[in-house]
Amino acid sequence: MKSKVYLETFGCQMNVADTERAATGLRKSGYDLAASADDAEVVLLNTCSVRERAERKVFRRIAEIRSQSKRAGRQKPLIGVMGCVAQLEGAAIFADAPAVDLIIGTRATDRIPSLIERAQGGEAAVIDLDERQEGEVWDVSPTERRSPYVALVPIIEGCNKFCSFCIVPYSRGREKSRSALEIVAEVSRLRSLGYKEVQLIGQNVNSYRPKLQHGLESFPGATSFSRLLRAVAATGMERIKFTTSFPRDFHPDIVCALEEFPNLCDWIHLPVQSGSNRILKAMRRGHSAEDYCQRIDGIKQAKRRLAITSDIIVGFPGESDADFESTMRLVEKCRYDGLFIFKYSRRAGTPAASLEDEISESEKTARFLALEQLQESIQERIYADYVGKQLSVLVEKQSARSSDDMTGHSTCHKVVNFRANQTQPGAVVDVLITQAKPYSLYGDLMTSGSVN
Ligand code: SAM
Repeated sequence: MKSKVYLETFGCQMNVADTERAATGLRKSGYDLAASADDAEVVLLNTCSVRERAERKVFRRIAEIRSQSKRAGRQKPLIGVMGCVAQLEGAAIFADAPAVDLIIGTRATDRIPSLIERAQGGEAAVIDLDERQEGEVWDVSPTERRSPYVALVPIIEGCNKFCSFCIVPYSRGREKSRSALEIVAEVSRLRSLGYKEVQLIGQNVNSYRPKLQHGLESFPGATSFSRLLRAVAATGMERIKFTTSFPRDFHPDIVCALEEFPNLCDWIHLPVQSGSNRILKAMRRGHSAEDYCQRIDGIKQAKRRLAITSDIIVGFPGESDADFESTMRLVEKCRYDGLFIFKYSRRAGTPAASLEDEISESEKTARFLALEQLQESIQERIYADYVGKQLSVLVEKQSARSSDDMTGHSTCHKVVNFRANQTQPGAVVDVLITQAKPYSLYGDLMTSGSVN
């Protein structure tokens, strides 16, 4: 009998999707999947390196797994590091963390079963940082998906943008789009299996550029991505979300597609990173604050209200008070529904890592808090506007705060809690919003909805 494998995931949705793919491959090769590290002979950590803190977390976790098995008098499990840290650090991990037996790069997912076999066969320091092989397809079994209602569907891997702060082009390689035929077939299959929502994912979904247009012939559009949106919408899948969009490639036809198909959800995540043109240039984003705001204006002029969220980095090297002030002004202007704020983290190997004029940790914290406060005041007003309105909610689970309540997401990607009334997870229900909280909405159930 083959060993039990435990997969633990850190970081973004691409990592979650990659774990689902790895689990599918392992199960097909006869491995069992464990529910915890304590229960497994093989532990694989799927890692994130986008900020230093995420990277450090993995090394702490390796030490923890090692000491837990020692304390319990068990043999140390075989430990593998997969994902972005594996790809970037490579063999150096063996020296830094001698408990690690296996290093699996971001494109070696489908080879994990044979890599485990090699390590279990006695080979020391097994490592695979190679490319995906020709003919590999994205194969994820429904049983390995994180949710039975919401499915992640990768449409593009990697990144060609080379923003000066970002490690992704080095950890995930160049952009590679999946064929539209394959994506549309996967979404149709998910629909017939009862999934209510798909999230098309990628570092830059709107940079989608397949080698061939197969599968898009019947769908017009200004870009391959807007044609893909129409093709996916035509499958009849109840809700379709997509993330993340890259500003420079954000064509207005995406908004047209959202206007044409109500099942393309009313939410766009468009990271700006800074409101200062000087900093945007140093970040090598390829857009100015004005270009960005023009795109936001286009989104705001859509026939139905589209929720907009963004990412911002504070404390990029050389960011002056005036630069930060420009970011605050841009946030006031864009009035985001949600904002992810990050303190700049120096990533070795990126162009920004060699820039001088680092911003002190205390200044980064001060800017983070000021921006957070501004966003909270904007968000409070946006959320308050939902009171009295009806939102369609995909019910996900019981609320962590109260066993009387259920929780889910609206089409505009807000967390909505409501009194349960025996509502099943997986149902799509209408909720009348009665209360706005800082990061969620609360309401009363209007319809009971159906699971199938
Ligand atoms: N494709 C996205 C974009 O448009 O840039 C990037 C996705 S990245 C995985 C998620 C977010 O992490 C970025 O939008 C950025 O705000 C943040 N991030 C990336 N590199 C960072 C760094 N070196 N320091 C702090 N935050 C960073």
